[in-house]
Amino acid sequence: MFTAKRQVATVVGNCLRMLPGSPVAGQRVLMYHAVGNRVDGDVNNIYTMSRADFLRHIETLQAVSAKFSMPFAPFRQLNNTEIALTFDDGYADALSTIGPELSKRGIPFHVFVTPEKLTSGDPRYLSTPELRELATIPGATIGAHGATHRSLTSLNIADAEADLRSSKQQLEDVLQTPITTMSYPYGHVNSEVRAAAQRVGFTAAACSKWGVNNEHSDALLLNRLDMWAGDNSRTIENKVLGYWNFLGRRT
Ligand SMILES: [Zn+2]
Repeated sequence: MFTAKRQVATVVGNCLRMLPGSPVAGQRVLMYHAVGNRVDGDVNNIYTMSRADFLRHIETLQAVSAKFSMPFAPFRQLNNTEIALTFDDGYADALSTIGPELSKRGIPFHVFVTPEKLTSGDPRYLSTPELRELATIPGATIGAHGATHRSLTSLNIADAEADLRSSKQQLEDVLQTPITTMSYPYGHVNSEVRAAAQRVGFTAAACSKWGVNNEHSDALLLNRLDMWAGDNSRTIENKVLGYWNFLGRRT
């Protein structure tokens, strides 16, 4: 099922690219997970990315950035053609691989961390001291990703708000800095959860719906592009240029 969808999207993306016109304006927020570590729940084997895959992605993204005048920028709501890199869940390789590789290239990046994982003892995830170290890497910004990685739309709204508040507070306690950005676990969000995120004090939040973001976008429902380990350079380029946005799915 997934393989068929990927094949169709690849073909449609290539066809759309042949149509006249420029790529749609807007910030592209790319969604990644881990580099080197096995990603929980990765049933289609698309998010578990090797170091070689990651370096290939970065090389392609740098080429796209230069070719189409799309500068790398931190994750936030903008209305030009920036590329922002985000990494969900807080895997330990954010410190060992992602941070060093991006920092030495001058590419900013965002890591959305689930605080419960910090003390889980699972070596795949950042520990509290590792998160503190990650936050000192030039270009790194830390955001929240739920306190416990539960689907916020599956909770009653009071529990969802408490989870959001806890995620923010725990990270602020660790890092001693305001945490104002987040991504929704599993991309699950509805109008009630969005309103709760706003009440808690988040000012920018990413979901998992395909698309770019412009001045009309809701800052608490920012679209992302789902990047997969096996994407070749043409697919990466087509995704960034917006030729996969027809998928428009919310996951
Ligand atoms: Zn997640």
